[in-house]
Amino acid sequence: MSASIIDGRASAARLRKRVAERVSELAKFNVVPGLAVVLVGEDPASQIYVSNKTKQAAEAGIRHFDHRLPASTTTADLRSLIRQLNSQPDVHGILVQLPLPKHVDAQSVLAEIDPIKDADGFHAINVGRLVLGEEATVPCTPLGCLILLRETQPQLAGLRALVIGRSNIVGKPMAHLLLQSDCTVTIAHSRTRDLPALCGQADIVVAAIGRPRAVSGDWLKPGALVIDVGINRIDAGEGKTKVVGDVDFESAVQRAAAITPVPGGVGPMTIACLLMNTVNAAVRSLREPSVPRLMPTT
Ligand code: NDP
Repeated sequence: MSASIIDGRASAARLRKRVAERVSELAKFNVVPGLAVVLVGEDPASQIYVSNKTKQAAEAGIRHFDHRLPASTTTADLRSLIRQLNSQPDVHGILVQLPLPKHVDAQSVLAEIDPIKDADGFHAINVGRLVLGEEATVPCTPLGCLILLRETQPQLAGLRALVIGRSNIVGKPMAHLLLQSDCTVTIAHSRTRDLPALCGQADIVVAAIGRPRAVSGDWLKPGALVIDVGINRIDAGEGKTKVVGDVDFESAVQRAAAITPVPGGVGPMTIACLLMNTVNAAVRSLREPSVPRLMPTT
């Protein structure tokens, strides 16, 4: 068997198109969705992520407000900025790029964000709503994974799903989204025993570990759907590096029914979902029933 490759770039382009259409509808009501992006310090990876987010926001017609602050910024300064953004009517979504410098209390900064403007879905109110199965802003990466899964397999109910990783930004929300999709969900982590056996029982494997090629293809149940969240930069020889996922793609592709590549799988969906969350926050602020929220279904 050779798996079909789940094209995250194409899926993200479709979602961005839907976002841009909804932005045009909002223009009829004189609303331009606005995203405030807060970046603290000079971390090169964070700078690239932020530039990609603001570029794609602009392309979709979303206004962005950039706040690039020195690494010396204090928790109090950041909380004060967040309060200002909370009260700014042209800001519908607020994103604080993580990680924050070590001296900053990230949880208290995230807690300051108005949950309605919480574009990343990390606020405890949104986390709680997700767990309760209520309407919530959902973290972008697991939301992107769910969209890719639904596009590949519309009937998720009853499938056995294994989520490897239990972080607050990927693993835990992913597990809740799959539970809400009526999957039977197992969460694995660094203390899990016999991960290969769990993989062998799973119809869906979502790997969010942060270890290059940690999941071997021969662990997989034949015909499994595999979503690889991992982004790992490894040595490619001759002084070069390359990015690989948490799944050993070469062996997994022989066994899975469908698999996301790295790069070009989950990564592009994350930013598209951020734009969707922002436009949905603007839709909610409008309180106009003729303009519905964008739903994470096709
Ligand atoms: P974290 O480091 O926060 O979490 C990793 C999780 O993997 C932890 O729960 C950890 O367990 C678990 N783990 C570690 N080793 C093993 C192991 N040997 N077996 C089973 N589980 C293990 O990472 P994130 O969730 O933030 O990110 C995971 C990956 O996804 C990273 O590669 C990251 O770069 C990527 N990522 C990609 C995004 C995208 O847009 N595509 C967005 C966000 C992340 P424990 O809790 O016990 O320590």
